[in-house]
Amino acid sequence: MILLDRHSPTAIILLGGMALGLCLPAAGAALRAEARILTGWGGGKAEEMVPKAARIGFVELVVDRQPAANLARYVELGKQHHIDIYGCLSLGDLAAWKQTYPDSVPPLQVMSAAEEEARKRIQADPTPDKSRYQFGGEPVNETEVLVTPLLCFHDPRVMEVCKRQIEEVLKVPGVKGVAFDFIGYQNYRCCRCPRSQTLLAAHLQKHPGESPERFAIETLVDFNNHLAAYARAVNPTAQVITHVYPTFLSEPLYGNRLDVDVCAQTAAWFFEPFWSTQKIRDYARTITNEAHRYHSRPHGAALIGYGRQPVKSAERLTAELQAILDGGCVRVHVSSFDDVVTTPEAADVFRKFFGKAGGQPTETH
Ligand SMILES: [Zn+2]
Repeated sequence: MILLDRHSPTAIILLGGMALGLCLPAAGAALRAEARILTGWGGGKAEEMVPKAARIGFVELVVDRQPAANLARYVELGKQHHIDIYGCLSLGDLAAWKQTYPDSVPPLQVMSAAEEEARKRIQADPTPDKSRYQFGGEPVNETEVLVTPLLCFHDPRVMEVCKRQIEEVLKVPGVKGVAFDFIGYQNYRCCRCPRSQTLLAAHLQKHPGESPERFAIETLVDFNNHLAAYARAVNPTAQVITHVYPTFLSEPLYGNRLDVDVCAQTAAWFFEPFWSTQKIRDYARTITNEAHRYHSRPHGAALIGYGRQPVKSAERLTAELQAILDGGCVRVHVSSFDDVVTTPEAADVFRKFFGKAGGQPTETH
C-alpha cells in the first residue's frame, strides 16, 4: 500500500505494518498522477452519466438526494463502474422543509434593505452575465448576494430538517455518504432575521468586543460539524464531504474548520473575470497545506467551475487544472460533471489529467 505524503514528495510505504519514510523524488510525479482523485457534482440520468464519467476518470459523483430512485440507480451503476456516490443536501431545499414541517412557514434567511435591493437588481438584470454577477462565488461587484433563498440554520428546526435528509440519503444501500451544498449565508455575511440577531446580541454580551463575523463563522462551522457528526452517528462508515458555498466574505477559505472527510473549496470559479492561474495555484496550495490546521480528518480539495456561460475553452481548463496540481492539490472537484460528460472537449481535458490509462475497462459496449 502506498500513501502519498501531501506536504512533500515523500512517499510513505507501509510494509507488513511497518511505516518507512522514503524519499522518492523521481517517482513523485508518477505517484502524484496515481494519487489524483476526481469528484463531480451535478445531475442527469444515471444511465447517461455514470459509464461516461468513469471513462473520463471520475471516481466519485455527488447527486441530489431526490428523486431517490435516481440516487439509488447512480449507486447501482456506480458500483459497476467503480464510482462512489454521495447524496446531496442543501439549505436551499425548501421541499425538504415542507416534508418535515408541512404546516409551518419555512424560516428563510433575511437580508438588510440594501442587500435585498441588490438581490432585486441582480434578478432584474437582463444582461446574459447579469453584469458580472458571481452567483455565490467571490463577488466582483460591490454588493452581491445569492439570489437563491436559503433556510436560516440558526433556527433549530432547520437542523432537524437536515438530519432527516441525512437519514434519507444514508438509507440508500451502498451510498458512500452525504454531501453538503448551499450551507452558508445568502448575503455572504450573516442572517439578519430576528432570531439570528437575538442570538448575535446574546453572543456579543457573553463575549464583549468580539466581531459579529466571529458569531457568523462560529455558528456556521458548528452547524456543519454537528451535521457531520450526526451522519457518522447514523452510519459510522458514511463519508461526509462538502463544497464551501456560498462564499463567506470575511474568510473565504474557512473550509478547514469543518470536521468533514473532504472539504472542497473553490479554486477556479465559473465566471468571468476568470481567476488568474496565480490565484488558483495559491488557493490550491492553501487548501492542501492548511487542511489539517483545525482537524486531523479532512482532506482538502480544489473545486473548479465548468459549464455555465461563458464556457471555458480546453486551453483554459487545462491551465486551471495544471495550476491546481502545481499548488499541490491532488483532489479536484468539478461542478457540474454533467457538463463535462456532455462536452467532448472538456471530457478530453479531464481524461488527460485523471483518466486511468491502461486501467480497468469501464463499459462493455
Ligand atoms: Zn436567521
